[in-house]
Amino acid sequence: MKNVLAVLLATQAPFGRNEIEVVSAGRRLATELGGTLAVAVLGPADDRWAQEPFSFGAERVFRCEHEALGTYQNDLFTAAVQQAHAAAQPDVVLLPSSAYGLEIAPLLGYKIGASVLLDCVQLTGDGTSGRVSIVKPVYGGKANWVLVAKKAPVVLVMRSRAVEPLEPQAENAGETVRLELQLDTRVARSRLVERRVEEEAGARLEDARIVVSGGRGIGGRENFVQLEHLAQALGGSVGASRAACDLGWVPASWQIGQTGKKVAPDLYLAVGISGASQHMVGCSGAKHIVAINKDPKAPIFRVAELGVVDDYRAIVPALIEALKQRKRVQQEPGALG
Ligand code: FAD
Repeated sequence: MKNVLAVLLATQAPFGRNEIEVVSAGRRLATELGGTLAVAVLGPADDRWAQEPFSFGAERVFRCEHEALGTYQNDLFTAAVQQAHAAAQPDVVLLPSSAYGLEIAPLLGYKIGASVLLDCVQLTGDGTSGRVSIVKPVYGGKANWVLVAKKAPVVLVMRSRAVEPLEPQAENAGETVRLELQLDTRVARSRLVERRVEEEAGARLEDARIVVSGGRGIGGRENFVQLEHLAQALGGSVGASRAACDLGWVPASWQIGQTGKKVAPDLYLAVGISGASQHMVGCSGAKHIVAINKDPKAPIFRVAELGVVDDYRAIVPALIEALKQRKRVQQEPGALG
């Protein structure tokens, strides 16, 4: 195996961490294999956005634009990727672990006769044998599988926050290829009937530098307001365990863990969360984990750098007050902070 194709969906948002991680993983793998990295950009993209992959080491960008690709639809977008695959002839196709990546990967794998692997956290290429080794966590992160792909093509979905992004090199350039896509809209087996945009308070969870996360121990929907105040005082965002989401206390999009979002903040503050392995999968990339839990035997204390054994209702309001007090002191003229 030699050549790599990373697949990205063009968005109105800036070229962000998810895109950079997939291109960075592709660049490293292509270099180890002694091959090339191409990137397929799906849908209408701003020219500057579509140039970004070059600064992270792509040699070619395939622009996949067509009037049928105005709104995401999995059959049509998969057909576009299939045509990008035919043009680029890669051995390895990489997708991000986003809603579209998870949908397109199996469809594409079926169409091009590839092996498909989801939730990959590390890729290594052997330039001599052409083999690609893939690390994939199993049993809720308690163990890793190391798999060797012997036969091309393979389609791999990268777990978010698992890949260290490369530094952009603004001077890098490459070739842009505008694909003449042949898309038959009759292949679309679904259509978008309504779009609801969920309001997000603070930074996107995946991008937040501080995450305050609540679990079943919070005890109810209304109590999450306290965590929102704490997150606000810290300049962070609020997340939750699956238990809190399943109980309907907070939206499912707040869920962190194996079947939720993966976050890698500087500080992860787990409040009333036991620390089940399926939850920790989603926050193990955090630089510092701090836990508040009234049970000294809670598993979260095995991974937390700092822990408070107490009822959160005694700790969280005091923390908010201390942060407010600190802010007031900092704002006073001549304060040392
Ligand atoms: P609990 O385990 O019930 O823990 C609540 C904690 O709060 C306890 O430790 C308790 O001591 C503490 N507490 C109670 N009251 C207070 C108080 N007043 N003050 C302070 N502490 C208090 N879970 C996820 O989170 N994310 C996932 O993505 C996920 N995916 C899963 C996938 C699979 C296939 C499976 C089987 C499970 C998955 N789970 C996931 C569920 C996971 O196994 C746990 O059940 C879940 O994480 C528990 O949530 P919790 O810690 O909030 O609740």
